[in-house]
This record gives sequence, structure tokens and C-alpha cells, in this order.
Amino acid sequence: VHQLAEEIGSRPSGSEAQRLAAQYIRDQFLEMGYGAELESYTFAQFRQDAARLAVEQPQQAEIGATAVIYSGDGSVQEQLVFVALGHPSDFPAGGLNGRIALIERGQLTFEDKVANAVAQGASGIIIYNNQPGAFQASVRTPPGVPVIAILQSDGQRLRDLLRQGPVVVRITVEAATLSMEGQNVVAPGPVATDRKTVVIGAHYDSVEAGPGGNDNASGVGAMLEIARVALDRSYPFDLVFVAFGDEEIGLIGSKHHVQELSPAQRNQIVAMINLDMVGVGETMQFGGTGWLADISLEIAREMGYRASQLTIPMGMSSDHASYMAADIPAVFFYRSNDPNYHTARDTAQKVLPENLEAAGQVALELLDQLSRRP
Ligand SMILES: [Zn+2]
Repeated sequence: VHQLAEEIGSRPSGSEAQRLAAQYIRDQFLEMGYGAELESYTFAQFRQDAARLAVEQPQQAEIGATAVIYSGDGSVQEQLVFVALGHPSDFPAGGLNGRIALIERGQLTFEDKVANAVAQGASGIIIYNNQPGAFQASVRTPPGVPVIAILQSDGQRLRDLLRQGPVVVRITVEAATLSMEGQNVVAPGPVATDRKTVVIGAHYDSVEAGPGGNDNASGVGAMLEIARVALDRSYPFDLVFVAFGDEEIGLIGSKHHVQELSPAQRNQIVAMINLDMVGVGETMQFGGTGWLADISLEIAREMGYRASQLTIPMGMSSDHASYMAADIPAVFFYRSNDPNYHTARDTAQKVLPENLEAAGQVALELLDQLSRRP
């Protein structure tokens, strides 16, 4: 934890620090006698430099905006047309002819709304929220025109203006989609049966804002220690340890790793244990596949640890979700309420060794119980 969070420090996507962290973790596995390798992958990352919305007519005004992920880059000034939710039937009969579409969030995916507006000839697209608060929208297909998201109240203001007469707006998006490279560290243990596999994983990247002591040097530290202890034990399944890259920007490393497994390899995995943020907080929490989370919770309680079921929404997810999406049973080891989450204060000093020990003890007991299952 010290090495990752203090010596290497913040390890965001695309950084040299993330590469150094991967090499460090690989070297730790190699020193223990594991055959560890780096698994490289590439992915596209959207970078927003600026997003602006200005009303030019009837009266100049600036409105706060964020770029929709994979928005086109550029600036366009045109008449605004309200097209409700953006169903094909919501657009004016003659199409938009280069005007800018104002669309309300809801019912259709952002992808469909944007595709419909582009098909109708929109030169720019504004999506406003259908509830209070900001939102992060994303499309998979780059639309080639600027697409921004704004607050519900601002969308309603624009609609009020449109009821009074023509409105001209300028949308500006300065953004780029970069081709990025990332790496997982894959460390298979001794092959036991060649028929069953248990995966233990933890992401090693961090957000840019902080050194990622609890999130997630803690999980990597616990994973390395489990690997060290497991060397002296034998299991009726193969153990594979994976340190995932680029978790923070969308589970990129774990998605790639699961995608690269053959159907036979996927079927072999009886359980995946994901350690993420296990170093700070009063209560151990377990989520993921029901039976696996239940067993883990029971183990923790029997060992005398304070533990509970994890009830955060799946959207606030981690790498176990990549396995569950492929129908692989997976359990999420976590701790609640880190006040320093994703900040510069998430340092190694905040991570309590006894919390790491608890994660390791429960994981090792879980391996024992999995060993006894038919
Ligand atoms: Zn995390």
C-alpha cells in the first residue's frame, strides 16, 4: 500500500505511474514464484477540454454545459428547435436543416436521441435533464456534431424562450478521443485440476485527484498477501490473481480480461473475489452474486468481524461486475463510508492493517469453503 500510494502515488489512466504500478505488482508476484505477466489492451478515451452554451438571441446569456462523452468537437451557432424526447416523430416535417436540437432526457437512450437528431440534420444537440441535478451522458457512436448536456432548469428556460419567439444559440465543445493503452497483471498460481478456477482480483489504478490508498492500493495489498499465503496451501482448483488497470474510468481492464477469456476458460471460473476499498471503514461489506456474498458475510461474522450485506446500487460498481456480466459468480469485498474517497486525502496512512488482515482472512476461509464444495 505504501509503495503504490506513496512511492508511486496517483495512478490514473494513461499515466506513467500506472505503468510503474503494473510493473511493481508483476515483480511482487514474480518474487513470490508466480508466473506473472502484463496483459496489454487499448481503448478509446474521451477527453473534454471545454463545453459551452451561449444564448445569442433574443438576449445574450451563458448556460452551464458538459460535453456528452464522444461528442463531436467544434462550435456551431444556429436556431434552436425543441424536439421533445427525440423520437423520429418529434422532429419537424422538413427535418432540422442544420438547426440545433433541444431534447429532453428520458424514454430513449442518449444513443438513439442523438442518432435521430443527426439523421434529421441537426448541427448540434442539447440534452436537458428530466430531473434536478447534473448527469453524465455518453454515446457509443461518435455523432460528429457537438452534443452537450444541461440542467433541467436551463432546458425549461430555453423552452420558455422558444415559446416567445426564435432562439439562436452557440454550442462549443473542445474535446478529443484519444487512443489509450492499459495493462492488467495476470498471475496464475500452480495448476491444480485444469477444470476449475477461482480468480482473485483488485484494481491498481487510482483517480487523478489522489494517491488511491484505500482505493485501491488496499485491495492490491490484500491480494498480494493472499497470494503469498496461498503458496503454502493446496486447493482443488487453479488460483489466478489479476490486478486490473483502468477501473476508475469504466472497468476497462477487467472488461478486457473477461472478453479475452475463451468460453471454456469462463466456464471454468467457479468464483471471482474482487477486493476494492478494503482498508478504511467500520464495517466489512459483501455484494455481488447472492450465494457467494452470503457465504462471505457468514464467514466474516463467524470470525467476529463487523460485517453487512452491501446495498449500494450496481451502478457504483467495480471489477466483479465485469465477471457477473459474463455469468461468472463474483463477490465484492468492500468497506463502507470512506470520507476521503477519490480525494488527495486517500493516503496510505488511512489504511488500517487490521482491515487488510480481515479481508485476507475472510478470502482465505472462503477459498477453503469453496474447496469443500462439490
Ligand atoms: Zn476502486
